[in-house]
Amino acid sequence: MYRYLFFSLLAPTLLTAQKSATDYSSLVKSVTPSVIEWRRHLHQYPELSNREYKTAEYITAHLRKLGIEVKTGVAKTGVIGILKGGKPGPVVALRADMDALPVKERVDIPFKSVETADYLGQTVPVMHACGHDSHVAILMGTAEVLAKMQKEVPGTVVFIFQPAEEGPPGEEEGGAKLMVKEGVLDAPKVEAIFGLHINSQTPLGTITYKSGATMASSDWFTIKVTGKQTHGSQPWAGIDPIVVSAHIIEGLQSIVSRQSELTIAPVVITVGKISGGVRNNIIPEETTMDGTIRTLDPVMQKQTHERIRKVATTIASAWGATAEVTIDTKTLVTYNDPNLTSMMLPALEKAAGKENVKAKEWTTGAEDFSFFSDKVPGLFFFLGGMPATVKAEDAAPHHTPDFFIDDSRLDVGVKAFIELVFGYAALPVKPVKQ
Ligand SMILES: [Zn+2]
Ligand SMILES: [Zn+2]
Repeated sequence: MYRYLFFSLLAPTLLTAQKSATDYSSLVKSVTPSVIEWRRHLHQYPELSNREYKTAEYITAHLRKLGIEVKTGVAKTGVIGILKGGKPGPVVALRADMDALPVKERVDIPFKSVETADYLGQTVPVMHACGHDSHVAILMGTAEVLAKMQKEVPGTVVFIFQPAEEGPPGEEEGGAKLMVKEGVLDAPKVEAIFGLHINSQTPLGTITYKSGATMASSDWFTIKVTGKQTHGSQPWAGIDPIVVSAHIIEGLQSIVSRQSELTIAPVVITVGKISGGVRNNIIPEETTMDGTIRTLDPVMQKQTHERIRKVATTIASAWGATAEVTIDTKTLVTYNDPNLTSMMLPALEKAAGKENVKAKEWTTGAEDFSFFSDKVPGLFFFLGGMPATVKAEDAAPHHTPDFFIDDSRLDVGVKAFIELVFGYAALPVKPVKQ
């Protein structure tokens, strides 16, 4: 009797669990060829940041076909899909970035890009040299599978197709920052967000992640030094902004080596461009330096800004010159909520296989996903796209003409997103933003 009762109570649950698991893997299997096809189409027709018009149409048509509620023109060319599941549950967002880069593709593949576009008045080649084409295809595939199992889906899934991750052109607004500003996380109110990045130097089909700070904040700075113009033979009659700039550059590097507590997190200050003067025998009136700051701790990011301002202005004033410092924050520190990360690890392991999920070090690269995970608990992880026959040191890095992704295991990305949606909904206690 007891045994019978126990069995009859348990049996339907087991059956349902088994059924949905089988359905989901067969659905992923059947969508995978399309995911690869979509990725290759997008790869062949890449578009620059804030100009992802055809990409947006391609995504929109797909989501509409699936019967998913769609919002277009979000943060300029962004597309949002909202899928209401048949079961009660949380609102979870999944994000894919859509933009390509002004890089000329050198890889010889049948779907090689020969596209060009206007970039700040210049005609440039365009290439998906960061792999965002695969992100879009993975999320389109995820949307298809989840739409087909809508009755089983707990809560609401918000599919965020985001423009301009690489940075909008010129003075334009864009990217995740603008999406947050336009309320993408507010209606419906998103509880947690997940995102991934393909990686050309990580073994195929593996997932890597880091709890806590995972990618750096990125700020762009400009320091304009104004001195007093004079003849090159008579420096004492003026104030040489070139020599002052040299001292400021030394000062900036000493901020890293002498003032930053590097045991907490690394700091990078790079001056990537310096310009001033017209010829040998004229000491010019001004010079301009442009650079980038990377930190992996929000407090250190703020401190570094203050120190740069202080070092530049006080060194300049010691010489009778002036320094004008502007700092523009491009991304925040991409922070993986430690509770969310540890709670979601089983989901990633289910998707890729336990032996294929590995913790990694943080990087000084940056991601504007950070604007989303600054607002709600987030997890951003990496998916390997390096062919099995290639060594990591030989694989072309992102943003280069030889960048190449093996797209045969994009299904791992689809599975990871699906597992995260179901895994998050099943958590008895959800992490909250600190
Ligand atoms: Zn990139
Ligand atoms: Zn990227």
